[in-house]
Amino acid sequence: MTSSNWIDIEKQYYMFTVRRQPVVIARGEGTRAWDVDGKEYLDFCAGWAVNNLGHCHPAITQAIVEQASTLLQTSNQFYTLPQLHLAELLVENSAMDKVFFSNSGAEANEGAVKLARKYGKKNRDGAYEVITAFNSFHGRTMGMVAATGQPHYQEAWQPLTPGFVHVDFNDFEAIVEATNDRTAAVFLEPVQGEGGVNIPDDDYLPRVREWCDSQGLLLVFDEIQTGLGRLGTLFGYESFGVEPDAMTLAKGLGGGVPIGAFMSKDYCMSLEPGDHGSTFGGNALTTAAAHASTKFIIDNDIPANAVAMGERLMGALNQLRGEFSSISDVRGKGLLVALEFDDNISPRVVARCNEEGLLLNPVKPNAIRFMPPLNITAEEVDQGVEKLESALRKI
Ligand SMILES: *Cc1c(COP(=O)(O)O)cnc(C)c1O
Repeated sequence: MTSSNWIDIEKQYYMFTVRRQPVVIARGEGTRAWDVDGKEYLDFCAGWAVNNLGHCHPAITQAIVEQASTLLQTSNQFYTLPQLHLAELLVENSAMDKVFFSNSGAEANEGAVKLARKYGKKNRDGAYEVITAFNSFHGRTMGMVAATGQPHYQEAWQPLTPGFVHVDFNDFEAIVEATNDRTAAVFLEPVQGEGGVNIPDDDYLPRVREWCDSQGLLLVFDEIQTGLGRLGTLFGYESFGVEPDAMTLAKGLGGGVPIGAFMSKDYCMSLEPGDHGSTFGGNALTTAAAHASTKFIIDNDIPANAVAMGERLMGALNQLRGEFSSISDVRGKGLLVALEFDDNISPRVVARCNEEGLLLNPVKPNAIRFMPPLNITAEEVDQGVEKLESALRKI
């Protein structure tokens, strides 16, 4: 069976809700992946910023194999060791005091919004509104569709869950103006990922922090894409010198297995027994994998490699910018990087890159996103840029 056979099978059986690239991936190792026809790719998508240590990292694989033959699922009616190991590791290495594990990013955000609403109810006289940003992305549940500030993710699902207010990202005054008696929290990605890798000015998040303190609002960071080393610090907030009151994680947390988390400081942990739960959330398999991945990231200072390789990648992309007039911007932090074109050519560029053996994400019609594994080598960065360059020459 070739790739095109499999693509026909997908058309017949699978709901068409995501435009896929015509690459049927059979196997991965590190920064490389192979399709069913045996073609090799450099993978700069990494499962959408999930495979922070690349495909099938031995530390994660070993943890999964061992846990799979020990214990998978118990429900949260009981205690299990992997869940508690991971909870301790995350709390001891972050500014947060408590954690709850979910199965995905959207679910983690749902939990954080529940926590913020209950905090507002108790501490801010019934306040429930959550201020989020335009161009944000917070997930696909009914609640998170309302939180996400992009009309094209919302229109078909009106009426939306009430209680979300949107403001321009990187506009501090807009948050001041949107604040009122009903406001419970401000909920932001430190760097907007899916919205096109939008990096705020240095003083934006510190000013939002001060405002939240002065008004008694919670500041919640969606660190689902920025957390676990992606920006070159273990958590994105460290890159901006600001601590949130609560934050959410997912994507890179499990190193490839589906797990999310929301974390909170003790003083605002408003949830009580019966308020929240999950059948699978925090099960032994996913928490064992996430513990192995997170511990490896911390012990081997993987964020430092993200800084160095991010600088190398951005340097090379800026050189390409000098050569190709169609490139209008290069921006990024750590290994979350975008290249913007002056025209809507990113789907064509990505298709060409696929042919060259490079997997990339067309994050916007006019921009591509780079989110390779954080343990990528200098040689792999250079090879990826070479493939991109030869793709651009053919456009
Ligand atoms: C991917 C993402 C989500 C949604 O995560 P899922 O696991 O797809 O539900 C939420 N917020 C941000 C910032 C993301 O990048």
